[in-house]
Formats: sequence, structure tokens, C-alpha cells
Amino acid sequence: MSAPTPFTRTAPVGHYIQGEIVAGCSGRSQAVYNPSTGAVAREVVLATQGEVEAAIAAAKAAFPAWADTPAVRRARILNNFLALLNEHRDELAAMITAEHGKVFTDAQGEVTRGIEIVEFACGIPQLMKGDYTEQVSTGIDNWTMRQALGVVAGITPFNFPVMVPCWMFPVAIACGNTFVLKPSERDPSPSLFMAELLKKAGLPDGVFNVVQGDKLAVDTLLNHADVKAVSFVGSTPIAQYIYETGAHHGKRVQALGGAKNHMVVMPDADVDQVVDALIGAAYGSAGERCMAISVAVFVGDEIADKVVPKVAERARALKIKDGMHLDAEMGPIVTAQARDRIEGYIALGVEEGAELVVDGRGFRPAGLENGFWTGGTLFDRVTPEMRIYKEEIFGPVLGCVRVATFAEAVDLINAHEFGNGVACYTSDGNTAREFSRRIQVGMVGINVPIPVPMAWHGFGGWKKSLFGDMHAYGEEGVRFYTKQKSIMQRWPASIGKGAEFVMPTAK
Ligand code: NAD
Repeated sequence: MSAPTPFTRTAPVGHYIQGEIVAGCSGRSQAVYNPSTGAVAREVVLATQGEVEAAIAAAKAAFPAWADTPAVRRARILNNFLALLNEHRDELAAMITAEHGKVFTDAQGEVTRGIEIVEFACGIPQLMKGDYTEQVSTGIDNWTMRQALGVVAGITPFNFPVMVPCWMFPVAIACGNTFVLKPSERDPSPSLFMAELLKKAGLPDGVFNVVQGDKLAVDTLLNHADVKAVSFVGSTPIAQYIYETGAHHGKRVQALGGAKNHMVVMPDADVDQVVDALIGAAYGSAGERCMAISVAVFVGDEIADKVVPKVAERARALKIKDGMHLDAEMGPIVTAQARDRIEGYIALGVEEGAELVVDGRGFRPAGLENGFWTGGTLFDRVTPEMRIYKEEIFGPVLGCVRVATFAEAVDLINAHEFGNGVACYTSDGNTAREFSRRIQVGMVGINVPIPVPMAWHGFGGWKKSLFGDMHAYGEEGVRFYTKQKSIMQRWPASIGKGAEFVMPTAK
């Protein structure tokens, strides 16, 4: 691969309302950093309540015609969007690297996973097919159809500025809804770029809108009667707040929260495969993935003693550099604040008595000393009472826990408040089967460290990793963004004479 072109736009990031970029009039804005250099790359405007209301109004006005557009024609516009995403894949990836910091090749992977949801949404005519039963009673047929909700909103986190919005809006608009997206203020550029691509693809104005902002924008969406459903992805305290506030205002809500993902390593696992899996899943994207592995659970000291030194050696040798270098394995942390929080957790782990095998604190690559850097960190002999075990660190910090039996490993994970992803490395089919059945976690990998479900399977954790009933995308996504209507029909020739006073039953 030749060197990618860096993203260099510097103009302030505005909103996208009714098919136009809007500069914003709040007078409030926030810096967007290049995490690699620590420099301010551009500013993002923060919406006023009025600007969010304007986006909702645009979406509301666009809804009747869009919902009335045949699904196959909506799908054709998404097909055009798909072609544009493929054409601009590297531009989007460079944008992600510039504002998030993750390495370019990883950002390309993120864009691909987003594109897969658009591919899924292109099949919407098939997905929205209803059910039909003829002759439920003599001369009577009954069928169900699914219809769009109206204006729906998405609120997304910093760590996947392309993929997570793509979990939401392609499915929502394919179903006939109109959309208001509130992306993370830390890396807002890709959302605006996708809005421009949707316009080029032929999407009518008002169907997709973007408001940049903070709590004020989110609260306006949550309180507004014209917003019928809210999809959220972010940290658990905010997910819970979104779920409770949205439900209080009568909205459908799916709110995906934080995680602490374990990887169980059985004594019969292949050591080299385990080391590769842990290195990639713990330190890839600097651990800023909701499906990152942050805890390795070794069943028995023997396997732990084989794996931990090898992971330590690889963690010390990680190629940590600016993400635009094609051989970079890990980039910087998104903000200085996030880096300081992560390093604070490392200090806490030492205080709590965990064994610090590799200390990533203080890592600064030459020439980029002002960037938001930390190295890969590895703790051994972490125990369940420690805060570094219980809490989400969301950085390149892997903790190792040692247990004596498989049952102990399962109980440990089932007792954790999060239940997003989990993995088990083993060569025994029965262990794998029992693990999949007994584990209280929404997404399970057997010898797969990061089991993010494919577009048609749906994504969602359990426990405090998801508030609501429906997972994101896949068929659950289609159900979330549509409501079911049941129709029962007969024609005059089948109607008997006389009023009926008893509960109708099949005749
Ligand atoms: P965050 O919760 O800080 O922010 C998410 C969104 O909520 C942003 O758009 C932000 O502007 C908004 N927000 C922040 N504070 C708010 C407040 N007080 N009131 C209203 N809105 C507010 O999350 P983040 O730091 O951007 O992302 C990292 C978190 O997201 C991690 O906890 C990670 O595990 C989680 N995450 C979860 C999944 C999943 O699928 N479960 C996927 C990706 C990220």
C-alpha cells in the first residue's frame, strides 16, 4: 500500500441541517485535537437548543414523503451511498486517524465494518416484508406490516466515528425514518463528510441531519416530542441516563454502554495463538474499543506462566507511532485527559497490589512529545476486588487474573456488572460449548478475541453494557426502527347479518 494522504481540513466543523452545512450561531465551540501532535486541528461548533430543534423540524418535514417512498427506491439511494463510501474509504479512514488517533489500517477496517451495515440496509425491501395468514376465520385474512417511526436520533461515542453512526442511520433511513445524528464532539468530521456523501447519493434534504454538540444538544433530543426513538452508544452512566430520560419521555431507546471484556485461556489453548490474540485485542486501537479485551483469565498457573512473559515481551516491542505510518500497531490516546485517566488507573493498580509487568506510563515518541501518548501496560495477579478489575479503563492496559478451574472463570465473568463481549481460547469442543451456553455476556468468541457480530446478526451486550431490549443493526435494528401494524380484513360478501356481542373467534 502506498502512503495514505493525511486529512488536513481546518475550517470549523458545523452542523448539517436540511441538506446544508450550517456554521452555527451559539458562539460556543470546542477544540478538536490531532492526538498525535497534541495540536488543535480545528474547532467544532456546539449547537444551541434552537439549532437542534431546527434539525428535528427538518427531519419531521421530510418524513412523510420519505416514508412514502417505495423501499426499493430508498435502497437504490443507499446503494449510491455505498458506492461513494467505497470510493472515499481511505479519505474517511484518514479523517478517523487525524481526530481519533487510531492507526490508518485499523481505521480502514472500521470503515469497512460500517460499509457492511450499509450493504445490509440495501436489502431493506426483503427485511420489511410483512407476514400474511389467509383465512384466519371464514372469509377473513390477517397480515402484519412494519412502518417507520418518524424522526429518530443517534448519539455516538468518539471511538468509532464512522462505524457506530453506520450501526444506526443506514438502517433507520432504509426503514423510512428521518434522522438526526449527534456525533462525538471529539472527532466530528466523518459524520459531516458522510452527510455530504448522502446528499451526492440522492438523499432528499432533511432525511439525514447532523448536529454537533454536547449535553445541551443531547437533552434537546431527549426532551423533544417529535423524536420517536433514540439510539445511543457510549459510556454506561450516560447510557443509563439516556435510557431513563428517553423512556420517561415516551421514546424507544437502545442505549449501549461500557464494557470490561474477559478472555478465558484454558490449559489446552495454543500458546502462540493466545499471545497473538491478547496483543491485538488489548492494545489494538490503544484499547479504546468497547470490545477490547482488558482482562485475561488464565485457568491454572501453568498456562499463565507460559503466556504472560510472551505478552510482556510483545507489549514492550509494540510499534507505537503516528497512525499514518503504515507499520504502526498502536497510535495515541484520544485526549490528554483520557491519557491521564488511564495512567491514573495504572498508579491505582500498583497501589492495589497488582503486579506491574509492563509500565506504559511516560512513553513519548521522539518529535511528538506533545501528543497524547502512553505505552502498552500489563498487570499480572489482578484480583476481583481491585478497581482496575471492576472498572472500565478504556486504554491499552491488560490485567491478568489467575483462577483454578473453568467453573471459577465462568462465575467470575458472570458476576461482573458488564457483559459486552467475551472470548474463550480452548481446543476442546465441549468446553467451548459449555462456555457459550453458560456465560452471561451478549457476544461470545470461541478462539475469536473480538467477536463483533456481522451486519445481519446485530450487536449488543448484556447487563450494564446495554439498556433497552433491542440490539443495534441486523434484524433487531429493523425492528427497533419500525413499529408493527396488524390488519384484519374481510369483504362484504363474507360478512354475516346481525350484530355480534360475543368475543369474535374463528368460524
Ligand atoms: P461518552 O459516554 O462520554 O459519550 C458518548 C456520547 O454522549 C457523546 O456523543 C457525548 O457528546 C454524549 N455525552 C457525554 N456526556 C454526556 C452527558 N452528560 N449528557 C448527555 N450526553 C453526553 O462516551 P465516549 O467517551 O465518547 O466513548 C467511550 C465509551 O463508549 C466507552 O465507555 C465505551 O465502552 C463505550 N462504547 C460502547 C460501545 C458498545 O457497543 N457497547 C461501543 C463503543 C463505545
